[in-house]
Amino acid sequence: MDDRRDLIHAIAQEATEWRRELHQHPQTMYEETYAAEFVSSRLRGWGVPHETGIGGTGVVATIEGQPAAESRCIAFRADMDALDLTEETGLPWASQTPGKMHGCGHDGHTSTILALGRYLQQTKRFRGTVRLLFQPAEEGGRGANRMVDEGLLVRFPFDEIYGFHNWPYLPKGEFSICSGFMLAASDSFELTLAGKGGHAAMPHVCTDVIVAGSHLVSAFQSLVSRETDPQQASVISVTNFAAGTGAHNVLPRSATLSGTVRTYSPALRDLMERRMAEMTQATASMFGMQAHFTYHRITDPVWNHEANVGFASEAVERLFGGDHLKPFVPVMGGEDFGHFLEKRPGCFIALGQGESDPNSPRSQGLHTTRYDFNDEIIPIAVEYFAELAETRLPSD
Ligand SMILES: [Zn+2]
Ligand SMILES: [Zn+2]
Repeated sequence: MDDRRDLIHAIAQEATEWRRELHQHPQTMYEETYAAEFVSSRLRGWGVPHETGIGGTGVVATIEGQPAAESRCIAFRADMDALDLTEETGLPWASQTPGKMHGCGHDGHTSTILALGRYLQQTKRFRGTVRLLFQPAEEGGRGANRMVDEGLLVRFPFDEIYGFHNWPYLPKGEFSICSGFMLAASDSFELTLAGKGGHAAMPHVCTDVIVAGSHLVSAFQSLVSRETDPQQASVISVTNFAAGTGAHNVLPRSATLSGTVRTYSPALRDLMERRMAEMTQATASMFGMQAHFTYHRITDPVWNHEANVGFASEAVERLFGGDHLKPFVPVMGGEDFGHFLEKRPGCFIALGQGESDPNSPRSQGLHTTRYDFNDEIIPIAVEYFAELAETRLPSD
């Protein structure tokens, strides 16, 4: 296996250059044309068949290994989109686009899966088919859903799927995984209260949307604490409350509240959507005003399939030793990968990238302006995926 490690390290050196080039050209939500063209041109150069424009800017590559009597297929997924952030790393490869930044390391994920493609195309030490998915709009844009809606599973079928996320909160090279729920469903809501504004000194002839809205903020918190099984995690955060003209003596006619809802359980997700709508209407009626409530399901929970977590854990243990594998404590963050896991078995793994220096850009949190992907985890991640490909699709 040493020749494999050497080859992967050689490819990863090149992939570091790709990563830094991608980092300089961040694009968001279905505008990832630079990354898509970059991926496509590399695949073309290596003779890897692929299709572009899947789910907007998505790319799907297919690598046929050695012929198999009963052909099986596994998929590996990367995301390509950046964030609306202004980078403050000062690195030579910092973003060249003001207000856009690869602040979640998707430049690294794309380079890793591309490097995996280079390795698999060159070696083909597997029997069956591997697909590489380069998805757009992971950051709240439902890119995974759009790829599936546009026929991904019919046009490019696969039996299992694996993905990863760099994790600055863990030391470099340490993997972390769990069975079942790993990351939450991430939804958003928006509601408008429409009342009768007026003179702030004569509230009895007005209706007060600010008082009604304040009741709702606290009612939503009691939905979490009083109507939810304490064993089932959930979060409702009102993140915007817009009302008022700036005047101290005018009661506004309308207020808009919006925020995020996080859950793991599908039943609880349904309950939140239904009860938040009911509470909004009931509160509006209690205060004598109109209300309009909308709820948007954005990402599905990441629910790891137990058997696939077993395959993933064994791969890490074989390659790097059991001390490089830690149990993942579920968090309420969301990841679009959950939608693929709703359709096919598979698992998502976190790969540590933190350095001992807490000020290193590689140790900064995801979605912060001083964060940078750690290129040293590219060969580690490629080895992990290569091991999965070669053990899940064994060649003899
Ligand atoms: Zn992110
Ligand atoms: Zn991300």
